[in-house]
Amino acid sequence: MDFTGGEPLTRTDILELIRAARTAGLYVNLITSGLPLDETKLAALVEAGLDHFQLSFQGAREEIAQEISGTKAHPQKLRVLEWLKRYRLAVTLNFVIHRRNIEQLPEMLALAESSSATRVEFANVQYYGWAFANRDVLLPTREQLMTSLDFLKTAQLPLEGKIRVEYVVPDYYAKYPKPCMGGWGRKLLLITPNGDALPCHAARVIPGLSFENVQTRSLQEIWASSDAFQKFRGESWMQEPCRSCDRRAQDFGGCRCQALLLAGDAAATDPVCRLSPQRPKIDAILAAINSVEPSEKVAQASACAPTNSALANATRQDRTEDQSEGSHANANLTKPTWLYRPNPA
Ligand code: SF4
Repeated sequence: MDFTGGEPLTRTDILELIRAARTAGLYVNLITSGLPLDETKLAALVEAGLDHFQLSFQGAREEIAQEISGTKAHPQKLRVLEWLKRYRLAVTLNFVIHRRNIEQLPEMLALAESSSATRVEFANVQYYGWAFANRDVLLPTREQLMTSLDFLKTAQLPLEGKIRVEYVVPDYYAKYPKPCMGGWGRKLLLITPNGDALPCHAARVIPGLSFENVQTRSLQEIWASSDAFQKFRGESWMQEPCRSCDRRAQDFGGCRCQALLLAGDAAATDPVCRLSPQRPKIDAILAAINSVEPSEKVAQASACAPTNSALANATRQDRTEDQSEGSHANANLTKPTWLYRPNPA
């Protein structure tokens, strides 16, 4: 069972919930920012039966992390890492990756090595909501992506058996979409603080769906027969080209929220798929992101801050400085905006 958010540590009954999950024989995972936490609370979480602690990071350096999170969270996360070393607890570090911090991968990996983590996940931002609004600033260039892949390929070799490294590339650069949520209504049931049961975290953005509540209907009934879980379950809802595609049982047509956002239809093939008629929209976005003129490169390179030497030297000697963090550091993030639903209160 995952306790996730928002921020699950804001629940005043989090210890009770963890204890109940453990008593029910479930493996208990907490996915947290680490902010509303002190040493006493961590000890209590462990005592209550926590098995796995996933700590989110917005970068390896305070400045960018603070810009993205909007708060001075980084020093607290470093403190939490130290406290975690005292316990026999599985620890995963979750780094959110984007154009402005992708150059920090070596530092992020070093941070993981200095901690008690046995797993680290570098997940590129999913371009929904606020990240969609800031896509032009956050989407890595192709060169950055390739450099990061090359770096991790080499850097994770000596970590084998100690730290499992996972890297989630941006959908936009992929050939086919990810099997979002492992398929709608196949693996995941998410319960919100008020008891609504959702097939995915973002399911509320899809118009026309209504969600049943665990206080009025059993989990089993909701899972088996509620309209929201049935809506995109299986294959009967699929349109072409998914309907007749050999990969439909592997990726389930991709992400419904991304289809809604980019194609205007939640039942459409995920537009990041090469077979989608909407794919040219993604290619146009990538072309714009990757089409910096050479003269601009020179100007940007002269203006940018020093890059991380480990990554800079890792591969690709011809890499130009326009892909460095500093070259994009002057681009402004827009204020949080939800493009396809009212900003939640
Ligand atoms: S057409 Fe649909 S099922 Fe086939 S690869 Fe693309 S998204 Fe997956």
